[in-house]
Amino acid sequence: MLLISCPNCGPRDETEFHYGGQAHVAYPESPNDLTDREWAEYLFYRENTKGTFAERWVHSTGCRQWFNMLRDTVTYEIHSIYGMGQPRPELQASAASAGASKSDPTQPGEFTQSGDFGQASAPGLAPGATAPTATTPISSEGV
Ligand SMILES: [Zn+2]
Repeated sequence: MLLISCPNCGPRDETEFHYGGQAHVAYPESPNDLTDREWAEYLFYRENTKGTFAERWVHSTGCRQWFNMLRDTVTYEIHSIYGMGQPRPELQASAASAGASKSDPTQPGEFTQSGDFGQASAPGLAPGATAPTATTPISSEGV
């Protein structure tokens, strides 16, 4: 059983929450230009990460607010909880291990080179428009 710290309500039992799938899946800037395959991949294809994974949760029996969580899918350890519009935070341990294998350990931003991170902060979308469009399809599926 997980103890999840809701940003609004504090630590609550896992049973008060619902899982909302992968975080930072940005709505396509021009959906009409996508092929059927690309649209289907946006709708249905998600990463299946073994390890640290950014995902969405909703406090469904509490404040009913969505938030993001950085969680290890192997150990269930919760690394970080952050707001819906915020970028995925970097982990100290992961940054250190990534830096150790590189020639320049002071180089930041290894995480920011992942594909979905760039799409999450797409410049064409207004800040207010991102959250509702992103949460609507998943929340209706989850209910
Ligand atoms: Zn809450």
